[in-house]
Amino acid sequence: MNRYSYLDHLECSRCGSSHEAGTVQSVCACGAPLLARYDLEALAEVCRPADLTARPASLWRYHELLPVSSEAGVISLGEAVTPTLRLPRLGEEMGLERLSLKDEGLLPTGTFKARGAAVGVSRARELGVTRIAMPTNGNAGAAWAAYGARAGIECLIVMPQDAPRVPRAECAIAGARLYLVDGHIGDAGAMVAEAIATQGYADASTLREPYRIEGKKTMGLELFEQLGWRAPDTILYPAGGGVGLIGIHKALRECQQLGWMSSRSPRMVAVQASGCAPVVKAWESGAAACEPWPEPATAAFGIKVPKPLGDFLILDALRSTDGCAVAVTDPEILSAQAELAGMEGLYICPEGAACIAAARNLRGSGWLHPDEEVVVINTGAGTLYSRLLREHPPVLPKGARIPAL
Ligand SMILES: *Cc1c(COP(=O)(O)O)cnc(C)c1O
Ligand SMILES: [Zn+2]
Repeated sequence: MNRYSYLDHLECSRCGSSHEAGTVQSVCACGAPLLARYDLEALAEVCRPADLTARPASLWRYHELLPVSSEAGVISLGEAVTPTLRLPRLGEEMGLERLSLKDEGLLPTGTFKARGAAVGVSRARELGVTRIAMPTNGNAGAAWAAYGARAGIECLIVMPQDAPRVPRAECAIAGARLYLVDGHIGDAGAMVAEAIATQGYADASTLREPYRIEGKKTMGLELFEQLGWRAPDTILYPAGGGVGLIGIHKALRECQQLGWMSSRSPRMVAVQASGCAPVVKAWESGAAACEPWPEPATAAFGIKVPKPLGDFLILDALRSTDGCAVAVTDPEILSAQAELAGMEGLYICPEGAACIAAARNLRGSGWLHPDEEVVVINTGAGTLYSRLLREHPPVLPKGARIPAL
């Protein structure tokens, strides 16, 4: 009989050592993230893409490539398959004939963080975890708090004091232990590490827990399936910790190994804000890892990460796919956000808008060709960012005439 999950073991992303997948694990002794490895040979014999067609439209349709060992272990808030939408008007204006956007803002809690939380929380509960802790810039905390509430897992969440209000409120209403810190996500991380060591929480920090990335990987699986098990020419991704980008790259390699897709890779582009661009700096200088960014500053909070733990994995994904890393300014981000809303009706988050701005710049420099197929990942909904809300409609006295334009 086919297994629900073909998870086999965990493998260190740096030293290659093998680790047991049936117990709670964090990083390798060498400090690097552990990645889930599946028995792809066995899976290739029993499952073809066509076998997935009749399954429900949710990330769980890829359960063989996820770590949760049975359907009974699935904690779900109804993760829908997100649409990949053509952007014909904006694309024409930008000189990109085949520009599309995968809209992750439609997931529970309004960001793609729901994918990582759905899979990470399900697996944690299956392994008997009852308390988890994590630092976050907001959106991951909101997602983990919601799925944690559904699973009956206690969440300790620490975020910067200037994190957006909506995810803060989402953590609070879901009953998480929430603390704010007068610092950035790295400062929050150091405090969480101490609480983990002394108060018995399992570590759910980015890439210090091996399964969040498996959930984010489904963004790639979904995109490839939507395109008929084919990759686009280029994928632009707003990279903070870079988990989504590493996850999409991992999905690509797994599909190639399964023989589900050709070996042609899409060019992967990491997009950052110029006020916090450690990956871009490392990319431009040819370094193998990032230097911590001294004073991170951008309205795109989800990508405000001064030193990603998986930096070498991000850089490897860019290099091995002939991609690149680029930064855009906050004014460019905000004008791309308004442009997309006005031309295509999509109110996306500033992180996603950063990718639209980057696509424009890369087309301008000739790095993107007019006829290539470009997919922008919009990681969340614009409505989450209450501080960026802008509207100044004229107020009329009751009974006044609407002015003619
Ligand atoms: C977390 C987040 C990102 C960055 O995600 P990584 O995969 O960690 O790089 C981008 N956009 C939004 C809206 C986020 O919440
Ligand atoms: Zn190692």
